[in-house]
Amino acid sequence: MKFGQQLQRYPHFLERTYQLTYHLFKKLDPLIARIGYDRVDGWLRGPEDFAKRVVFDCHMCGQCILHSTGMTCSMSCPKNLRNGPCGGVRANGHCEVKPEMPCVWVQAYNRSLDMTVYGDELLNIQPPVNRQLEGSSAWINMLTGQDKAVPKAWPQMDIIPLAEK
Ligand code: SF4
Repeated sequence: MKFGQQLQRYPHFLERTYQLTYHLFKKLDPLIARIGYDRVDGWLRGPEDFAKRVVFDCHMCGQCILHSTGMTCSMSCPKNLRNGPCGGVRANGHCEVKPEMPCVWVQAYNRSLDMTVYGDELLNIQPPVNRQLEGSSAWINMLTGQDKAVPKAWPQMDIIPLAEK
């Protein structure tokens, strides 16, 4: 079993790590703003991509919702669904498109049950993924609020902001 898959068996540990990182970035926000979000984004992309790819099979969508999806990357779903599974989940809990692969939403649900900080966020409605953010640092987009921005052309919707936890 790969290192990342092993770690994903401990969603509570992962959500606490996420929580700590979140608070660290919030504390550093004034400094990052002074340096420049774009510049820090350039520094962060590589390490963020590497670390999250190893653990979560991250696809660098730039709009990270791991904490709302059982610390399971919803972009690993072949259909990139961000609001729950499609209607094709197999009886064994595997993917319709890739039968050998467990459905990421079944995993997200099961893992969210082990989470005590963000587990209930599984019910949050997520905006459609904004492809313009692909490849950028999700941490920086969180600080600037870009990860919650809904383009004007889209129907406006109530995005539940990340609660301070
Ligand atoms: S939700 Fe986006 S940023 Fe977060 S792990 Fe998945 S692809 Fe990466």
